[in-house]
Amino acid sequence: MNRRPGRILVVAPNWLGDAIMAQPLLTLLKGKTGALIDVVAVPAVAPVFRRMLEVSRVIEADFRHGALDMKARWKLGRSLRLDQAGQPQYAQSYVLPNSWKSALVPFFADVAVRVGYAGEARVGLIDVRHPNPKKNTAREPMALFYARLADLPGKPLPKLAEPFLMTDPLRVIAAKVNLGLHPAQNLVALCPGAEYGPAKRWPAEYFAEVAGKLKARGFTPIVLGAQGDVPAGLTIEQLSAGAAINLAGKTSLDDAINLIAGSRAVITNDSGLMHVAAALGKPQLALFGSSSPEHTPPLSGLARVITLKVECSPCFARECPLGHFKCMREMKPARVLDEFDGLGDLITSATP
Ligand code: SF4
Repeated sequence: MNRRPGRILVVAPNWLGDAIMAQPLLTLLKGKTGALIDVVAVPAVAPVFRRMLEVSRVIEADFRHGALDMKARWKLGRSLRLDQAGQPQYAQSYVLPNSWKSALVPFFADVAVRVGYAGEARVGLIDVRHPNPKKNTAREPMALFYARLADLPGKPLPKLAEPFLMTDPLRVIAAKVNLGLHPAQNLVALCPGAEYGPAKRWPAEYFAEVAGKLKARGFTPIVLGAQGDVPAGLTIEQLSAGAAINLAGKTSLDDAINLIAGSRAVITNDSGLMHVAAALGKPQLALFGSSSPEHTPPLSGLARVITLKVECSPCFARECPLGHFKCMREMKPARVLDEFDGLGDLITSATP
């Protein structure tokens, strides 16, 4: 563990938010070893790793969701075994997902030291195994969960750095123009999605109400999200009488990152785009329902978390098991608008 390897191989998480919450680990590894860091990532998260200063190379691996893809993993692993001089390419690897299959690429690449959580019975695949956190205890911050891998199990960690994604102002302007926006518009990005499930989604009609009020204050609300968020985007656009422009399902992840970078502020559920906004240093309101702001907080001093802390939260359920969905339904648009107004100077001084 104390050797100074030339290159480190990291197998990235497959969820956008987790990819960003893993960045403090990369910062620690970079600072500790000075090594070049290569990241194996699925296409859904590869764009964010391309924007991280710590990452030298992103190896995009289009493994099918839920599939073992043994042959593809073997092929990729063997292709990563040796460098151009015919020497072993990686001396260390870090496997961030807990699944058995995610540990296969470093194993097939003959990486000498493979670090990860014990996960799904990974004896033989992971040789520096950190104990899995107990499921029945309060969930620690995900960023800390990943960062622990930087050292031996049980070792204390320094204060973690906040995630940071690089942006290019010209690409930000290009993304706006390509999507029919004017570069000088005061955008506020609304992110009504949360892939995990509806219990993390603030109602679309509430977003619509906020959009109308933001428009009246001189902002241009835009709705960002993936294909699955198109119905919510259309609802927000319709209920706000066109105050919000629906771009959900119309952007690549890279476009969405550029548009968030080009916005004055962001209002978002606890989702991947919430973590993107944090890593871009955007003033944001992060709305938490069934999940916990202690477990997956936006890692930014410019983020304000809104949570009602109802007696049943966090339940971590995908759908409200009690049916009343109080944690989000009782978080009224007026409260969110008040908090938005409270961002004040942060919004006006944010570089669009
Ligand atoms: S059980 Fe409580 S915390 Fe969970 S979704 Fe329902 S209202 Fe929200």
